[in-house]
Amino acid sequence: GSPSGDDYLARLNPEQREAVETLDGPVLILAGAGTGKTRVLTTRFAHLLKSGRAWPGQVLAVTFTNKAAREMRERVSAILGQPAEGLWLGTFHALCARMLRRHAELVGLTSGFTILDSDDQMRLLKQLMEAGGIDLKRWPAQGLMGQIQRWKDRGLAPGRITPVEDTDYAGGKARALYAAYQARLRDLNCCDFGDLMLHMTEIFRTHPEVLADWHRRLRYILVDEYQDTNLVQYYWLRLLAQTHRNICCVGDDDQSIYSWRGAEIENILRFEKDFPNAKVVRLESNYRSTKPILAAASHLIAHNSGRLGKTLRAGRNDADGEKVRVVSLWDSDEEARMVGERIEAFRRSGHKLAEIAILVRAGFQTRAFEERMITLGLPYRVVGGLKFYERAEIRDALAYLRVLAQPADDLAFERIVNTPKRGLGDTAMRRMHEIARAESIPLVVAAGRLLPTLTARPRGALGELLQGFARWREGLAREGHVVMAATLLDESGYTEMWKQDKSPEAPGRLENLKEFIRALGEFESLTGFLEHVALVMENDESAEGDRLSLMTLHAAKGLEFDTVFLPGWEEGLFPHARAMEEGGEKGLEEERRLAYVGITRARKLAIISCAANRRIYGNWSASVPSRFLEELPAAHIQREGSASMARQRMAEMPSVFTGTGGLQSRKPRVIEAGAWEVQARPAHAQPLKVGERVFHKKFGYGRVTAVEDNRVEVDFEKSDPKRVLDSFLERV
Ligand code: ATP
Ligand code: MG
Repeated sequence: GSPSGDDYLARLNPEQREAVETLDGPVLILAGAGTGKTRVLTTRFAHLLKSGRAWPGQVLAVTFTNKAAREMRERVSAILGQPAEGLWLGTFHALCARMLRRHAELVGLTSGFTILDSDDQMRLLKQLMEAGGIDLKRWPAQGLMGQIQRWKDRGLAPGRITPVEDTDYAGGKARALYAAYQARLRDLNCCDFGDLMLHMTEIFRTHPEVLADWHRRLRYILVDEYQDTNLVQYYWLRLLAQTHRNICCVGDDDQSIYSWRGAEIENILRFEKDFPNAKVVRLESNYRSTKPILAAASHLIAHNSGRLGKTLRAGRNDADGEKVRVVSLWDSDEEARMVGERIEAFRRSGHKLAEIAILVRAGFQTRAFEERMITLGLPYRVVGGLKFYERAEIRDALAYLRVLAQPADDLAFERIVNTPKRGLGDTAMRRMHEIARAESIPLVVAAGRLLPTLTARPRGALGELLQGFARWREGLAREGHVVMAATLLDESGYTEMWKQDKSPEAPGRLENLKEFIRALGEFESLTGFLEHVALVMENDESAEGDRLSLMTLHAAKGLEFDTVFLPGWEEGLFPHARAMEEGGEKGLEEERRLAYVGITRARKLAIISCAANRRIYGNWSASVPSRFLEELPAAHIQREGSASMARQRMAEMPSVFTGTGGLQSRKPRVIEAGAWEVQARPAHAQPLKVGERVFHKKFGYGRVTAVEDNRVEVDFEKSDPKRVLDSFLERV
């Protein structure tokens, strides 16, 4: 029926309706994925307004992402039948920033304060540490920044840190440095992201009249994805709800996936303690997914201990549905191809791309799928992040390679000359440009001219970079582009820069850099690769139109799609090795919750896959299927691909590729193909014949039109006819 008008309550089941209509007092909705928690929250919002309980500006609704806020605004508008204006609806940070503008003076800022980005934060902290005589080699600033963020996540201003909370970081000076950092931010009329929450809770605690004013203003509080709030967010909510206690939180302990950012699942337990007599509502009908999908997800998550425990049953009439697919493939290339082929088939049979998503564990994994989608001409978007070749570390790495290939590439040189920091200030950069302009020479040559005039540190660092480029360029012919690119990133200090970085994003960036080298290995030359990337980046059409979604599992929270691909279910990748190393059994359980989130995004079909071989930094190595695959209920799973495919492929492999294929063997088989070996497929046992359909990594599908020794002429479907080496073709 139509979403507008008064029928909005009729579109709920009795439990949901009760949750919507219990407007007074604390309400906690604990329910599994797809049970309509977000729908309840949105309907509650609209109901508050429609029933005349509240004006639009009297409801505060917290969502996890800006996208979720946008969707909630649209849904509320639809129910209201008119655009919803002036709502307090957004993420914790957005809402706090808006509040803090009104009270900035209470924490020594003015309303025009600036929110610093992480680069600026680091620069500031480093200056303070240097001034305090801290040995930055021994105590990297990133470590302290991480500690400060953790304190802020727990609502601890410097004055609240007891000696017990202090660390021995920087010889016991962490707390003092934190205080100095906060003072410096205030002097500059700045705050960092963590401050938005911290300042507002401090203001509420120390200025009862301000808090009382907000109590009068905001009568109802709604919180989505409650399981992922951290302590300071919890305090902020509790303070805001203190008097009227009209707070409704919805969440699912099985979907708590942000503990690495300070989220505390205990907040669910705290809620019932801090808000005694809270009404706890349980929703048990899942309206999103078919039975096999639910069975798979429920069975998997049952392997976690210490759950609050919930029932989940299919609430859809058409819930029978298809079994969850588990597809095993020979290698990661084949996996990307499988995903691409199935998506093409879905599209041919009339499915919308917007109803399909590929959800990966780690950001670097999008690369293989992005390239495949470009090859097939399937439009895609990367949700909650950047496309692979647009990520900062990849742009930096590309700039290094561009200078390597083409010293006169001034734009590229400018990007990397002071990344990592080589002590070149604005003056030095300006002079470099002046020399280049005056003598009409490339920047890199001007840099050489400038060298003798610089002070010791930049002279040393820049000199090293210039010598480095000469050396790496020379090594190119001898060692090959893959080895040299990796050497360059190491020797230039670029990789090290990210290793030193202790921010939560740094490990992902390092993984992206490894993936970058892996991508390079798929090309015969550096220029070939750079050309390819230029084309890929140009491929970007407008944001409009039907597109499929690529994103990490973390970014997929709360979303739903008809068809969901879940690739890379292999030990080490998923569950991710780092999560298990750092978090032990708890880390593993959080990974399992991520798997639960992933499967439950699917409405109709979930396709899980794993590859038996993955190229790890230039080497092929065998991978072991994820333990999560064994935790799926056999009755609801259909296994595909695999053994036969692997055996057939293995017959074509040189003898180093031995071992039995298939997923049954759980022992890792390490396949060493030589360091940095560039992958070239083995020659075909049966030579290709005219008329056969083939697949080429770069040019896609085509038909053989002529064969001459190992060279094959192919008429490509999406590209001009070309002559290529037969080892780069695959029979399809
Ligand atoms: P998640 O835990 O993944 O965030 P959720 O509990 O927030 O899930 P929603 O996204 O609100 O669930 O709802 C899941 C799907 O079920 C949506 O498509 C929603 O429109 C639909 N839905 C919810 N309740 C009902 C209902 N009573 N009747 C029909 N469809 C419903
Ligand atoms: Mg939701």
